[in-house]
Amino acid sequence: MTNRKEASKAFLKLLQEQNFYKQNLQLLQWDSHTNIPSKGLQQRAEVIGYLSEKLHQSQTSEQMKYYIDTFMEGSEDELLQALAVECKTIYDKAKKIPSQLQKAYAMQISKAEGVWAIAKEQSDYALFKPSLQRMIQLTQEMADCLGDKNQRYDTLLQQWEPGMTTEKLDGMFPALRSSLIDLLGEIKKSKRVIDETVITQSFQIDQQQAFCLQLLSNIGFDHEAGRLDTSVHPFTFGIHPDDVRITTRYDEYDLRQSIFGVLHEGGHALYEQGFAKAIMNTPLAEVSSMGMHESQALLWESWIGRSKPFWSANMPMLKKYAPQSFQQLTAEQMYTSLHHVNPSLIRVDADEVTYSLHIMLRYEIEKLLLNDELTVDELPEVWNEKMEAYLGVTPLNDREGVLQDIHWASGYFGYFPTYTLGFMYAAQIFKTMEHEINATSLIETNQLTDIKDWLTTRMYKTGKRKEPLQLIQDLTNEALRPEYLIEYLTNKYKDIYQF
Ligand code: ZN
Repeated sequence: MTNRKEASKAFLKLLQEQNFYKQNLQLLQWDSHTNIPSKGLQQRAEVIGYLSEKLHQSQTSEQMKYYIDTFMEGSEDELLQALAVECKTIYDKAKKIPSQLQKAYAMQISKAEGVWAIAKEQSDYALFKPSLQRMIQLTQEMADCLGDKNQRYDTLLQQWEPGMTTEKLDGMFPALRSSLIDLLGEIKKSKRVIDETVITQSFQIDQQQAFCLQLLSNIGFDHEAGRLDTSVHPFTFGIHPDDVRITTRYDEYDLRQSIFGVLHEGGHALYEQGFAKAIMNTPLAEVSSMGMHESQALLWESWIGRSKPFWSANMPMLKKYAPQSFQQLTAEQMYTSLHHVNPSLIRVDADEVTYSLHIMLRYEIEKLLLNDELTVDELPEVWNEKMEAYLGVTPLNDREGVLQDIHWASGYFGYFPTYTLGFMYAAQIFKTMEHEINATSLIETNQLTDIKDWLTTRMYKTGKRKEPLQLIQDLTNEALRPEYLIEYLTNKYKDIYQF
């Protein structure tokens, strides 16, 4: 017994050591995205490479294997067992992939990302094609090391969304896709014109910044356990629950950039700040999945931040910071101006009605590519056909078509579905919150920390202890369903576009 007790102490100490490596890596990466002078990048990449290698060695060590075997089964301590299971996943993955392949893959990513950037700049898909081909091939090899060759896509998907399968996605996505296409058709037919000029007036950046900091306080972001900076593309780095870094961007003539950047990343941050003390400094102090992470960003950005009650409650505060030109703006005008739907060629510019159509197109295409059912030569044609069929728009060049995302160059195959899963989780969770704590009335009275507290207790604190499908089941008392998202979008846009 004493031995077991000592072993558990040593196991936790090793996990803490690994966590310290991770915290350092996160901090270095955050700095690389915000503050580093350009000459420092080369050296930084070497340091990151060195620390990653050290972490990897520790995660796959004999010592780690011993702790996994000791605590995997028959452990009375549920936490130790959960940690052993998580460590085994990391261990197995690292052991199954030959180091030669791992190295070739990492090298190909940095090469492909470089080629992609030039190809996008020049709008020249032919330039990127060989790199993409090689990336697909290496990704297939990696997937075949990790799982069944006949379920390659599932293997990749589960890297980001544990427990999710193509079978489950294919049971939900078609219904969502046809509902969104129908909804878009109704919106296009509507005569309603949405005036965005009411909010595209000059708004001093330092005042926007002050407003955004106040918004963060209102949603319950702990400023003593995190900070807000500026970057071209907003992001979140959760170094530790007591140190969560987020960024947003500012445009003097478009306050939506800063406000929704802050609410989106703020949602990610609340999740990261909410992990329970018991799992801190362990591999379980992480989000359940990328889809769940995105769900919290969307819940705070869209379900709360783009709602009518939110703007009724926050209009006086906005006017405190805003210039004269905003003083006549009503909550109703603000709300309406935030819901302009316009099918765009570019995913990152898409509104909430069309966003998931961009995702489904990518999901369908990458599945075909990985299963050798589509060649890189045929890719642009299929892309353009699907854009026309789903969104009614056709790219005129590769830059605004097949070359727009970095994901495939970075080896992020199987990642895209997590965005739409995020929308679906958010819709279902909000519905439950409405039922259990009357979320809308809490938004109306700006009691947003009550919402944060509910989410922390029911979801954030569990970290990675539950897989996403289990988490949604426990939270909402039913399995994930696309109907809640369909209902939410249909009701909202019927009202706004008056059909
Ligand atoms: Zn996000």
